[in-house]
Amino acid sequence: MDATVTVTTVEDVGSDTVAITFESPEGFDAEPGQFLKLTGVVDSEEYSRFYTLSSPDADSTFETTIAIEPDEGGPFSEYLASLAPGDTLEMEGPYGNDHYEGESRVVVLAGGPGIGPAIGIGERALADGNEVAIVYRDETPAHRTRLTALRERGATVHLLEDSNADLGPVVADVLAGTEGEQVFVYGFAAFVEDAEAALDAAGANRQAAKIENFG
Ligand SMILES: Cc1cc2nc3c(=O)[nH]c(=O)nc-3n(C[C@H](O)[C@H](O)[C@H](O)COP(=O)(O)OP(=O)(O)OC[C@H]3O[C@@H](n4cnc5c(N)ncnc54)[C@H](O)[C@@H]3O)c2cc1C
Repeated sequence: MDATVTVTTVEDVGSDTVAITFESPEGFDAEPGQFLKLTGVVDSEEYSRFYTLSSPDADSTFETTIAIEPDEGGPFSEYLASLAPGDTLEMEGPYGNDHYEGESRVVVLAGGPGIGPAIGIGERALADGNEVAIVYRDETPAHRTRLTALRERGATVHLLEDSNADLGPVVADVLAGTEGEQVFVYGFAAFVEDAEAALDAAGANRQAAKIENFG
């Protein structure tokens, strides 16, 4: 679907991280873990970037979580963080096959803004009565309130507050190896490489994991 979408809220959810909620256009649907292309004009130049759903559904609104990297990032993520309710953007999507599909146990490995799909999938899976484990690596973790709520509702949540932390032991610990267990990996390339190495070391089938590399 191509549509003009309207911002309803912009919320700080951590250090240099915002969650933006948009009104869902008529007939729009998306699953947690799918991503959208957002397009806007910054200083007379048009930018298009991909952002992953961080809400458990897209029934009346949908949310994406955006990290602003002062050193590595470019102008579009900063522009998104400056949006206000009532502002509009062009949206295309949803895209991607590596999303939640009702699996009975979800294990989500998230780095940086990968926390967006992790909480969206976690909230949806718990609502469906499924098991949830989240491993999240970030120097300054975002979405702490929703992570605490997930933990209180029964999810296993491991925070690694060091971007060089070894994922190996904690990944080996959360994998139950049960039928219906599905591993998801979301984050930028360096995190995805570390997560794949941790899955290999734990003897997990990396080919069966749903992996979205942010670039
Ligand atoms: C499938 C997909 C899903 C994505 N989902 C999200 C999402 O849910 N949330 C989100 O914030 N971003 C997501 N991204 C990344 C997003 O599309 C942009 O690349 C990002 O916001 C930077 O855009 P920019 O215009 O500010 O900088 P750009 O000019 O596009 O980026 C400059 C450079 O910085 C790198 N970079 C930017 N931020 C980081 C970071 N935090 N860690 C490491 N390297 C970084 C980029 O890879 C690039 O090399 C996703 C990307 C893809 C491909």
